[in-house]
Amino acid sequence: MSSTQTPIGIDLGTTFSVVARVDRHGNPETITNAAGERWTPSAVLFEEGSVIVGTEARNAAYLEPEGFADFAKRDMGDDGYHRTIHGQLYPPEVIQSLVLKKLKVDYEERYGEMRDVVITVPAYFNEPRRKATQDAGRLAGLNVLDIINEPTAAAIAYGFQQGFLSKEGKAERSERVLVYDLGGGTFDVTVMEICGSDFKTLATGGDVHLGGIDFDQRLIDYACDQFIEKHGQDPRSEPSGVQRLKRIGEDVKRALTHRTQTTFPVDHAGYSLRVPISRELLEEKTADLMTRTVFTIRSVVRQAGLQLSDLTRVLLVGGSTRMPMVDSTLQKEFGFELDRTVSTDEAVAHGAALYAGVLMTRQTGGISGMTVQNVNSHSLGVLGTDTKTGRPRNGVVVPANTALPVTKGKRFSTARDGQTSVKVSVIEGGSATGQNSTPVGECVVRDLPEGLPKGTHVDVIFTYKENGRLEVQATIPSLKKNAKLVVQRDTGLSDARLEEWISRVEKIAVSPS
Ligand code: ADP
Ligand code: MG
Repeated sequence: MSSTQTPIGIDLGTTFSVVARVDRHGNPETITNAAGERWTPSAVLFEEGSVIVGTEARNAAYLEPEGFADFAKRDMGDDGYHRTIHGQLYPPEVIQSLVLKKLKVDYEERYGEMRDVVITVPAYFNEPRRKATQDAGRLAGLNVLDIINEPTAAAIAYGFQQGFLSKEGKAERSERVLVYDLGGGTFDVTVMEICGSDFKTLATGGDVHLGGIDFDQRLIDYACDQFIEKHGQDPRSEPSGVQRLKRIGEDVKRALTHRTQTTFPVDHAGYSLRVPISRELLEEKTADLMTRTVFTIRSVVRQAGLQLSDLTRVLLVGGSTRMPMVDSTLQKEFGFELDRTVSTDEAVAHGAALYAGVLMTRQTGGISGMTVQNVNSHSLGVLGTDTKTGRPRNGVVVPANTALPVTKGKRFSTARDGQTSVKVSVIEGGSATGQNSTPVGECVVRDLPEGLPKGTHVDVIFTYKENGRLEVQATIPSLKKNAKLVVQRDTGLSDARLEEWISRVEKIAVSPS
């Protein structure tokens, strides 16, 4: 197998990113970065014309907070990273692409070209966030074969490990697995059915704003409150202090995984304080976060049409599941037996590499037995107006947790004689009135033929592909004709801006390498 054909999977994480590939014997292996680490912090420090990515960037963050960006994954799908970097607003996918570029550079130093890859996304990512992830790959000069949901990837790694996927030993038994993924910035729950080498997602749910960083923040806030009480000054008032507190907060939390007591050192304005912190205190300050994960589990299991007792296994993924409170909460609430046979940090990347292998075999005409079925995590709707009340209305076209791919049409009628265009606002999620929904974009059916009578039907057809990306088409049934359709996205990079950024990112050197 030549190096360009090696299946590669990338877990592009909020906090850490991991690269894996399938070795000559068909087994997934983690690829270390240039510094020999198995995971690379998804952190970027911008310098003049170049960037530093990874541990070095994190370590220098407090010296140059204005040039530092991390947790960009949380902002994916938004127009810009949540704060400016050296006064400039960067799209989050550009920051993530620089992380990918670092992974690529490090890989290529030893193994030859990195080109075709599968990148993972939280199952709960909506369509704009998925598009932004694919764009990040393109910006980094990668050919993204596909994106795959992180829990699905973890389940594939698990299935592989259990021998479900080996050529000889196709297992007969089927399992209903709950994947609990608590990472650095996101939380995902997915219920899957694994039957032999078929991986079917039954339901998924989660929270893109719940992860390890929130546990860190509670400790930081507690320590700062103690400091203010003692010295009357807030250590969070200067940016470099905030970066340092973040590092310490995370270290303290991690220490409490294997110890029951530690201290949080705070230095500010010439004063210092050592704040004692116990595991008990951490658990007390974050109990509501754990409760949120419990509610999500209940709701996802219900949406899968199952009872808790139907589950045969709980897979723990993500660094934050190392916290003892995850075990105790899940056991207390559900009596779950927890499975730690897959590596919490590497399973996602390993599953992605295995999936890349399947896709590449398929492309070359080979047969591969694995099937992966996904569901959409958010409903897809069209925003309209209720004719009776005059209020906005969310006309749901595809409900959440529908098996993918799915194609559904919605019929619209022209309101006037001679109308030449129809505009449709597409949203994901949200209430019946469209509140809290994410605008995906506007589909404008253009250049309708002249002289159409009022009330002419225009069908807009939505297809959610297996990977959760959306395709839209429009037809005029009375004319048996496809209409021209332009999707104007409300968020993320337009094609023109993407091209522009591709050439800019190309010129940014990644150091050290
Ligand atoms: P992501 O997928 O979001 O990048 P990871 O799955 O790599 O995240 O998990 C990173 C999170 O796991 C961080 O918040 C980190 O603090 C936390 N973490 C890692 N090890 C431990 C530990 N031993 N105890 C508690 N939290 C941990
Ligand atoms: Mg992760």
